[in-house]
Amino acid sequence: MNVVFLGPPGAGKGTQAETICREKGMEHVSTGNELREAVQAGTAVGLKAKEYMEKGLLVPDDVVVDIVADCMTKGDHNSSFLLDGFPRNLAQAKALDGTLKKLEYKLDNVFYFAVSEETAVKRLTGRWTCPSCGGNYHELYMQPKRPGVCDKCDKPIEQRSDDNVETVKKRLKVYREQTADLIEYYKERGVLNTVDADKGVDDMHDEITAVLETAAGS
Ligand code: ADP
Ligand code: AMP
Repeated sequence: MNVVFLGPPGAGKGTQAETICREKGMEHVSTGNELREAVQAGTAVGLKAKEYMEKGLLVPDDVVVDIVADCMTKGDHNSSFLLDGFPRNLAQAKALDGTLKKLEYKLDNVFYFAVSEETAVKRLTGRWTCPSCGGNYHELYMQPKRPGVCDKCDKPIEQRSDDNVETVKKRLKVYREQTADLIEYYKERGVLNTVDADKGVDDMHDEITAVLETAAGS
């Protein structure tokens, strides 16, 4: 089963992806995570991506299309992929269609995370992550047990440099202008499910799981 999580930054895609992938044994492919790792490692891809990410702009399509194709090609043929934050424009969606066709995979479900901009801004500007283990926190909604310290690995948690108000607003504008059209693209293909992403983490999880279980049983 292959799935896409589509929605604005701050909708809660990464939070849901982590749990669903653990529970269902799916491979989590987050282009944002892959790019941040490349920036951290100082690779050629990372150096190229950094300038776009800092400005809240989309990294060029060829870079992210290759990342996703590599991840999907490396998986074995029984793998299930959950693509989080990809595709983000029509060219990427078409490239994904090509990759799926080449590998003889099908796209089973696209989950559109419908969230208000007000909620997305609050979630992004309050997001904290652990650079060591990827632990996911929020200063209001998912606080660590000890302030500033990861529950799982005791390391200091930090805020992403692109989670400041100005860059968040830019990222949401980019989403509206370049990504939101994909809702229609996938609706026309009959694979779109809309998730109420203003809800709490557990309710969202139940909504997504119910669709995946129906799909798996059918
Ligand atoms: P995305 O991957 O869509 O950009 P994240 O999953 O990283 O979003 O979530 C952004 C922030 O909001 C994180 O700090 C996360 O802990 C928090 N968060 C995620 N889902 C919810 C939710 N349903 N309710 C409240 N906070 C949430
Ligand atoms: P995210 O972690 O999904 O919020 O992504 C962080 C940043 O990485 C985005 O603001 C973009 O600069 C870049 N990025 C992530 N995914 C993509 C993608 N599919 N296409 C282009 N840029 C991306």
